[in-house]
Amino acid sequence: MEELIERASRDLVNAKHAIALTGAGISTESGIPDFRGPSGVWTKDPEAERRAYRSYDRFLEDPGAWWEERLTAPSVLGSLEEAVPNPGHRALFELEELGVLKCVITQNVDGLHEKAGNKHLLEYHGSVSKFRCTACGLRFNQDAFDLAKLASENRFPPNCPECRGIIKTDTVSFGEPIPGDVARKSLEEAGKCDLMLICGTSAVVYPFASLPRVARGRTAVTIIELNAEPTPLTGEGISDYFIQGKTGEVLPRIAEEVKKIRKQV
Ligand SMILES: [Zn+2]
Repeated sequence: MEELIERASRDLVNAKHAIALTGAGISTESGIPDFRGPSGVWTKDPEAERRAYRSYDRFLEDPGAWWEERLTAPSVLGSLEEAVPNPGHRALFELEELGVLKCVITQNVDGLHEKAGNKHLLEYHGSVSKFRCTACGLRFNQDAFDLAKLASENRFPPNCPECRGIIKTDTVSFGEPIPGDVARKSLEEAGKCDLMLICGTSAVVYPFASLPRVARGRTAVTIIELNAEPTPLTGEGISDYFIQGKTGEVLPRIAEEVKKIRKQV
């Protein structure tokens, strides 16, 4: 383990354009439930899963009604606003601050990388703390709209102040395409990185899953995988090496090691 942490830290220091890919595994240590695990949100409530699958069609059919339902329905993930970044998130922020990590691409919608302070962040599936214009793609903080007032004045769905397009939550629903800007920038990052650090995700859900595969298709890219258990990335030979462990424990050790190496050179 110690050896692998040193190897990863050295590779990070030597990389010119290192990026990280993250998934649910980095957030479970902040108490965010997953969806399909043994005590996952949908394992416990299959009806909520069926509703989630229908949600985007419902939005397209009748965005006004979709917004009304959304105001009254309880959030399936509980109160994400209270969740705080854990040592894994903080270590990735530290690596960005050190200039080692150039970008984080996350599948998580919990906003914890943003809370940790990361600036070069691509939220592939959106963020629960934002709204997005479905026409021009602008993102807004939730407090940019007074939903209760709009509801009472029968003015759902909210409209974009820039282009009058229909506003949706930023989180990407089932069946909804990945927003064009995020999809394009993520592919660009995968196409130019020379190191990819994959943390807490098996990267099996497409199109996100294409990112490590795009990187693997190029020469001179090091792909490091940090997960609790081996994944298809390990089995298919996508990752160059695999570090087995918790992101909240391993990433801070990598950040420490990177600082040590930096002092030596
Ligand atoms: Zn707009």
